[in-house]
Amino acid sequence: MNSFKRLPLLIFVFSVLILSSCTSEKDENLLIFTNAIIWNGTEQEMRENAALVTRDGRVISIIDINDLDFPEGAEMVDLNGAYVIPGLINAHGHVGMADGLDTSSQAHTTDNVVRQLRLSARYGITTVVSLGDEPYHAFLVRDNIDAVDSGIARVFLAGDVLHANSPEEVAEEVERNSQYIPDWMKIRVDDGLGQREKMSPEIYSAIIDEVHNRDLKLAAHIVYLEDAKEIIRNGGDLIAHSVRDEPVDRELIDLMLDRNICITPTLTREVSVFVYAERPDFFDDPFFLEYANPEVIEQLERPEVQQVFTGRAADYFRDALPLAKENMVALNNAGVRVAMGTDSGPPARFQGYFEHMEMEMMQDAGMSAAEILRSATRYAAECMGIDDELGTLEEGKWADFVVVEENPFEDITNLRSILDVYIGASQVQR
Ligand SMILES: [Zn+2]
Repeated sequence: MNSFKRLPLLIFVFSVLILSSCTSEKDENLLIFTNAIIWNGTEQEMRENAALVTRDGRVISIIDINDLDFPEGAEMVDLNGAYVIPGLINAHGHVGMADGLDTSSQAHTTDNVVRQLRLSARYGITTVVSLGDEPYHAFLVRDNIDAVDSGIARVFLAGDVLHANSPEEVAEEVERNSQYIPDWMKIRVDDGLGQREKMSPEIYSAIIDEVHNRDLKLAAHIVYLEDAKEIIRNGGDLIAHSVRDEPVDRELIDLMLDRNICITPTLTREVSVFVYAERPDFFDDPFFLEYANPEVIEQLERPEVQQVFTGRAADYFRDALPLAKENMVALNNAGVRVAMGTDSGPPARFQGYFEHMEMEMMQDAGMSAAEILRSATRYAAECMGIDDELGTLEEGKWADFVVVEENPFEDITNLRSILDVYIGASQVQR
């Protein structure tokens, strides 16, 4: 055969060789976090002597470090026997609304959004679902800044909280709020403790239908038991705060179980309404001070600012807090999914730190550490509809995880012993 005629064949053979060598080079994207005790978010037990195998930021598998098939040639990170849990998810936060105590338009910048998401990430909160009233800068960050490369928490957004005054306004308002492509939508059904008219079922049922027509889900801020029930009867998808006026009853539990509805208790939201009337103890907590802005602390210590945290609403929500906790536990015990959520982000609701405070309050209220860990990972992801890629360390999902020194299953406060945080297998600068 003429050698020229064989040339295409040779090119083909060389191409295959080059391509296959590229493929083996690509295996350098294989990153293994070894020598750890790993909870994948679904199993009852943690796996000891385990390694988390990742490629391109996603989970391949969790294997035994003595496994004979242990992949060779991968980059290894030795976790020295530490605990690994899926990245924590705040199912109800807010981003970009305030800079310290400032909520003016000056606070609304992409830099501020990035700073807040970085702060969350440093506390192990690798995803924040921001439930409404974000400035559009939050959408710019969501759509243009890579969380993995930048070491910031992933963010999902609800846009403007809907407040139509009549059924006729609903379609236009939902349309307007759709322009930035929100991930959720949100309403408030709240009479301001009797100070104003609250949204009627007629209006919110129209909103829920319109939101569902766009394949989105609707979160509802509530205070009262009857509103929680009526929202669920009308098709609402998430109860975004605790029931704070009455003990939850069988009817609410059945409605939530039948329709698979979750709740975000936001216990720290109640705390933030009254706690600054005096200097709170956590102003001396090193875990808080590590990232706190001393200027903001100083402002909150001023008598004229402390005064803001007194009065009727402060009294109501302080007095309602024990009931909010009891209701959370009752729902949890009945099998309703509680998704960890804080309502942090507005002034003096400190992102990152408040998520840990929330989980500690959940524990004080009677939930077990295992239940809280599930609530802040898998359940938060399922409840917010982001569990296809987040919430557990299962094959194909993002390798977002927290490395902690002490066993968080023994006591949720052990989550404070964070050693490292990874988003998409990439280390967050702390
Ligand atoms: Zn909220």
